[in-house]
Amino acid sequence: MKQITCSALIKHGSYINGSWQQHDNRFDVVNPSNQQLLAMVASADAADAEQAVLAAEQAFAAWSALPAGKRADILQHWHQLILQHQDDLARLLTLEQGKPLAEAKGEIAYGASYIQWFAEEAKRLYGDTIPAPSADKRIIVQRQPVGVVAAITPWNFPNAMIARKAAAALAAGCTFVVKPAQQTPLSALALAELADQAGIPAGVFNVVAGTDAKGIGEVLTRHEKVAKFSFTGSTAVGKQLLKQCADGVKRVSMELGGNAPFIVFDDADIDAAVQGLMLAKFRNAGQTCVCANRILVQRSVYQSFADKLAITMTQLTVADGLADGSQIGPLIDDKAVAKVTQLQQSALDQGATLLLGGGCHSAGKQFFQPTLISDVNADMAISKEEIFGPVAALMAFDTEQEAIELANNTEYGLAVYFYSRDIGRVFRVAQALQFGMVGINEGAISNAAAPFGGVKQSGFGREGSHYGLDDYTDIKYLCLGGI
Ligand code: ADP
Repeated sequence: MKQITCSALIKHGSYINGSWQQHDNRFDVVNPSNQQLLAMVASADAADAEQAVLAAEQAFAAWSALPAGKRADILQHWHQLILQHQDDLARLLTLEQGKPLAEAKGEIAYGASYIQWFAEEAKRLYGDTIPAPSADKRIIVQRQPVGVVAAITPWNFPNAMIARKAAAALAAGCTFVVKPAQQTPLSALALAELADQAGIPAGVFNVVAGTDAKGIGEVLTRHEKVAKFSFTGSTAVGKQLLKQCADGVKRVSMELGGNAPFIVFDDADIDAAVQGLMLAKFRNAGQTCVCANRILVQRSVYQSFADKLAITMTQLTVADGLADGSQIGPLIDDKAVAKVTQLQQSALDQGATLLLGGGCHSAGKQFFQPTLISDVNADMAISKEEIFGPVAALMAFDTEQEAIELANNTEYGLAVYFYSRDIGRVFRVAQALQFGMVGINEGAISNAAAPFGGVKQSGFGREGSHYGLDDYTDIKYLCLGGI
């Protein structure tokens, strides 16, 4: 850990009710780049999760009663502190998660931007008045914070997935308990340290880091004091947690898997499409839920697109995330490497063609070469499952209608991208695609001002934008009679 300059940001236990917890039972946090031990973190359990929920319940009355402007000031302070520590937070993130340092810095700024955004939105949590059906009545609508929010987050964005949930929850007046992914607790705990420094009161923001995901998850989805549960992760785990939430009729947001199509039409600017794909495919070594998974290219431009893409991909630098110029870091663990290898191999076994890469990279056992596969079809597992690695799989299509049908042929509906310069086609295709987010001539679509979220089995709820507070508020209707 000698590379970390700000040791105050490295914490070794959960943050509950404003205190740092210790346990004899500890778990290892390992650098995915070289498998070196980074830290041993006290493993919180279900009892700790319950303690965090009760602390959040205790803190709710005072936090929700604060004027919105006061909550906004505290959140702005948190935002400033995160940016002040951007370099240290990014370094910590790269060490435990692997992504290139430049991307990690981007994630810290991106996560912080949600805190700033919702600090501003906190002041605009407007209600409504509605014309009443009779003269002696008035109808008033207010939005109130739901209460204690519990969240479970993944390892691929260890900072931003927490920041964008917590920002909306705290801005609305809710209190918050999060269980970060076991692989990446340090970024979550560093956020808690800065929350503490920012003056977020004890119990308002809690981090429960532990290896018993199931036990902690039971508490966070079933505890009677939890009003709302927000999850980002795999569809399989999301479905299980959704069932657990059903028993208590919890409010739920689910940001689950995607299987993003990336469509290149024959009228597209091919160079721009290649650049867009590089962003949409290779960020975080392909380990994001909005990464392009199925690359559909119209037959007349297929060869030229594949050639240009191959040339661009050969320029990618695969290296430890802290190395100068690194663009592709390691995959998160051995399991991830095995899955990417298996998806690629089964596509090749079924007739796909390897154009570039195709296996582990000499940088280390968890590094995968940027890989390009051609002649993929819709029946292959690589078209049906999230690859979550730096493998680009190309498939040809002939007509606009065929592209739309291929794109929609999935149970997922998170992000889709397409490239076209025909304005009529842009509107026709955008309307027909069954996805929550559509990148049109654009490969990087996520920002705090925009609503992030999916349809179909990619989940529901929206994070960011002015819609983002909806998930954390209940609508209360006041009927004023006798006027
Ligand atoms: P990924 O494939 O990105 O690791 P997961 O859905 O497995 O996605 O993990 C996302 C988050 O869900 C992590 O914080 C993980 O610890 C947590 N998780 C995994 N299984 C369970 C479970 N049965 N109950 C509660 N949380 C879980």
